[in-house]
Amino acid sequence: MEVATLRIGHRLVRDDRVTTHSALVARAFGCNKLYMSDVDTSIIHTVEKVANSWGRSEFLIEIYDNWKEVIKTWKKDGGKVIHLTMYGINVDDMIEAIRVEAKLLVVIGAKKVPRELFDIADMNIAVGNQPHSEIAALAVFLDRVFNGNELKKQFGTASYKIIPNLRGKNVECRSGDNRLNL
Ligand code: SAM
Repeated sequence: MEVATLRIGHRLVRDDRVTTHSALVARAFGCNKLYMSDVDTSIIHTVEKVANSWGRSEFLIEIYDNWKEVIKTWKKDGGKVIHLTMYGINVDDMIEAIRVEAKLLVVIGAKKVPRELFDIADMNIAVGNQPHSEIAALAVFLDRVFNGNELKKQFGTASYKIIPNLRGKNVECRSGDNRLNL
């Protein structure tokens, strides 16, 4: 399944951290792509650094001019548009129908999203009907879509490899630089 995230409504400076975390969640939880506006392209650099350190995947970030065009193109290519909103239908009531789709575009907001998004989306989906956060909503939604398997995803070439440990911290350094202090 091809899954992309579309981030809309980023507020200058104030939302940098949240957009960065949305990108990191999208990458770590199995998305192939994040569409974001050109508000702070240093986010791309941050994600690039994370990928170099912890593993490459097929995850890309694409800058858009107009979010409506992204949705239009996605729909034209046969993709379904899932808008995450507390006003939607509970994810657990729709997840079976969502999982059969081949292409999903998951739209997350920042501030109040434009009203028309509720009509353009194929599905307005709620991760519970209480307000919380786009980062949490995205993580829970992707986890439902991939049935938890995304947490076992193997990433490609990396400078560091975590040796999972119940206690303590064990990281294998592949770059030959043993000075790493994690
Ligand atoms: N009051 C805003 C509104 O009316 O949309 C809430 C914005 S919230 C801070 C930012 C984003 O988090 C929303 O656009 C939505 O994508 C996501 N979100 C927050 N709560 C959610 C929930 N219960 N289910 C799904 N998505 C949620």
